[in-house]
Amino acid sequence: MSTNPSEVAGSMDGFWHDDLATADPEIAAAIANELKRQQDKIELIASENIASKAVLEATGSVFTNKYAEGYPGKRYYGGCDYADVVETLAIERAKQLFGCNFADVQPNSGSQMNQAVFLGLLQPGDTFMGLDLNSGGHLTHGSPVNMSGKWFNPVSYGVRQDDERIDMEAVAATAREHKPKLIICGGTAYSRVWDFEAFRAIADEVGAILLCDMSHISGLVAGGAHPSPFPLCDIVTTTTHKSLRGPRSGVILWNDEKFTKPLNMAVFPGLQGGPLMHVVAAKAVAFKEALSPEFKTYAHRVVENARALAASLEENGLRIVSGGTDNHSMLVDLTAKDVTGKAAEAGLDRAWLTCNKNGIPFDTRSPFVTSGVRLGTPAGTTRGFGPTEFRKIGELIAKVVDGLSKNGPEGDAQIEEHVRAEVSDLCANYPVYPHE
Ligand SMILES: *Cc1c(COP(=O)(O)O)cnc(C)c1O
Repeated sequence: MSTNPSEVAGSMDGFWHDDLATADPEIAAAIANELKRQQDKIELIASENIASKAVLEATGSVFTNKYAEGYPGKRYYGGCDYADVVETLAIERAKQLFGCNFADVQPNSGSQMNQAVFLGLLQPGDTFMGLDLNSGGHLTHGSPVNMSGKWFNPVSYGVRQDDERIDMEAVAATAREHKPKLIICGGTAYSRVWDFEAFRAIADEVGAILLCDMSHISGLVAGGAHPSPFPLCDIVTTTTHKSLRGPRSGVILWNDEKFTKPLNMAVFPGLQGGPLMHVVAAKAVAFKEALSPEFKTYAHRVVENARALAASLEENGLRIVSGGTDNHSMLVDLTAKDVTGKAAEAGLDRAWLTCNKNGIPFDTRSPFVTSGVRLGTPAGTTRGFGPTEFRKIGELIAKVVDGLSKNGPEGDAQIEEHVRAEVSDLCANYPVYPHE
């Protein structure tokens, strides 16, 4: 490499003014293909959604360029006037949306928001309780491969074998025995209403802090389609990109001022440096959208659609864990069809129905194989599907699973081709970004 400036210096004109297609055709093509995938296939992954154009625009904005370490009015960098505007709006809207006194909108992701609660309120080795992964808990709630399970002492609770609902008696007994400092309610694959009152009573009895990680259901809570964890829970965390339909990120919410310093300090400087201000701006946009009357309708429709999908799957011979759903998601138990979750995920993908394999309660198969799939309605509801479309989707899923049941993991190519055509028809009628 030359060290002579006159030899390395060329023109700097213009290259950063090129649009993406000119500057980087490979990435531009992958993005175009991803849009087409989202348009042409039906998204049934319960943790995904389709963010609005306004959210995408804020995420792709010039706030990408800005460092804003600190909090509004107390920054470690100059030039934060507009960063303060967007973060203050994001905080005020989050508080209004969920009915609480304080919000930290800086966590970069769902995992980091939960890490901040651990860092701010617990000491390494402290005991905490969370929903067992096999019953629908999240990695950050005490999995042995996650920091929460490596550096802290997790004690889990689960669902009952007979009705596959959370056993509140067992939660109480476990809490009395282990005296956790923190109890977490909320999960990733639990389709029933959370009994925040019962959790509150148990937390009070053993002197634990009560955290609700409402990542999956926060859109429903925002829209009044699931009871709110406030004021019963001390701290509430949520991702913003699932049923809430915002950018990929997290927030922490609470009511009691005593948590403000430890939680803010845990996010910055405890875990993070500069916040992703473009994503903070996009969170503010998503909260504004979620405050609208249209979002209430959306949230209720998500639940109505999930009920329609679950009913259709059952009518077509598939078992739904716990016998149905109260929220946006459900687990389908494929044991009786002798089909694995892995084979079903692959077969459904061949038919352009995207979902994920998922362990069911008391699953005997490994997490890489599983006996179930998890399905959710937030993304389909955003693109406009109603109960009629979701009933149809239930029929299509059952057909693909029957093909797998008859023929093994190869499935039935004819059935899958037929389902693909039906999926294409549905998708053509409901574009994800209608004006693209
Ligand atoms: C998705 C999820 C998270 C983690 O979110 P990431 O943004 O993927 O890190 C945490 N808790 C629950 C309950 C979740 O569903």
